[in-house]
Amino acid sequence: MKNYPIKRISLISIISFVGIFLMQAFWIIDSYYERKSHFAEHIHYILTQATDDFCIEISKQKAPIDSDFEQQLMASILKERFAQSDEMPSYRFQIQNNADPAPQLNNSKYINFSENIKCSRFHKKKLRLFIVNDKTYFLSSIIGWVILSSLFVFIGIIALFLNLSFLRKQKKTSRIQSDFIGNMTHELKTPIATISVASEMLMKDRVLDDRGKSKRYSKIIFEENLRLKKLVERVMQIALFENGTMKIKLTDVNLHDAIIQSCNAISMIVNKREGVLDMDLQATESNYKVDSTHFSNIITNLLENAIKYSPDSPQIVIKTTDYSDGILISINDKGIGISKKYQDRIFDRFFRVQDGDIHNSKGFGLGLYYVRRVIEAHGGTIKVRSELGNGSSFEIYLLKL
Ligand code: ADP
Repeated sequence: MKNYPIKRISLISIISFVGIFLMQAFWIIDSYYERKSHFAEHIHYILTQATDDFCIEISKQKAPIDSDFEQQLMASILKERFAQSDEMPSYRFQIQNNADPAPQLNNSKYINFSENIKCSRFHKKKLRLFIVNDKTYFLSSIIGWVILSSLFVFIGIIALFLNLSFLRKQKKTSRIQSDFIGNMTHELKTPIATISVASEMLMKDRVLDDRGKSKRYSKIIFEENLRLKKLVERVMQIALFENGTMKIKLTDVNLHDAIIQSCNAISMIVNKREGVLDMDLQATESNYKVDSTHFSNIITNLLENAIKYSPDSPQIVIKTTDYSDGILISINDKGIGISKKYQDRIFDRFFRVQDGDIHNSKGFGLGLYYVRRVIEAHGGTIKVRSELGNGSSFEIYLLKL
């Protein structure tokens, strides 16, 4: 997958989420002001009713009326009127003479209302009502919707990020796989071409008559065929792991014997490169229940890597030690080492370090993946300790079953 669709999808999604967010903010603000204006209309209606009630009560009074009486009367009328309505805000009120100036109150803290009281020609006053400007009071009816829609937006954002990270992973896997296919095609082409040339030569009479030449060409065919076989086996092993049909057959194996065998098989290559392969088998207990073929394969894989990634003559030490309830097998080399940033990834399928001239060495990035999978199938673990330029140490820890 090319890069741009992911970037485009991310951009479109971000724009749409910003749009949703802005619309939501606009909707909240709009609802807030609508609720506030509806509220103001309602309060005006209550005040008209209250002043009417007030005048009726005043007209019934025979005795002279003082301001305390007016205060008490208005308090009880307002209480009753508000009790009958849907609104129950916190409020204060004042009855003022018309000529009195409006009280100076903090406008952001209170919403002011006023209503003229005209009970008679001589009784003209003003009712002032101050309601606490409580924003949450006006938002209370929509708060549930706000929370719910914010929750959905939040879930949408999380889902988007999960999708994008999944897409990115897919992209990485497909790149790794296409690298693998390229690598594999290259690896297959070389032995096939060599076999083809060697067999063609073998068909020629002058070559057949020469025993030395025919032996040499037969040897080439044999070795290249072995290389192909190994390649196919490696891919098959991984494929079996992938579809879950690979079985581990546990038998009693002397790990030291198996290690010595693998070392003997590989020592020829080490000698050819004028290297050293030392065994330091110190573990007191070396009889373990393992799958003998897979165990030999993993030791061989690690030894082959130690040789492959040692540009000078390989200096390899394979060591065993007792370790709590099991055995620790370490394969140490003085090769190119692995930079810290790659150490966690070298056991991943198809992963190969692409820095420097490492890619000059042949491989598919399947060896260590296979090693890890086999060790895990045995309930063990594998770790790498390495420093770029200073060699590596692969440590296998197996538990005594
Ligand atoms: P490959 O087929 O590439 O060797 P592996 O799975 O065996 O695949 O190894 C993965 C990568 O880990 C290699 O490409 C190499 O970069 C790095 N690596 C493995 N073993 C060693 C080692 N002994 N020294 C340095 N780098 C190593």
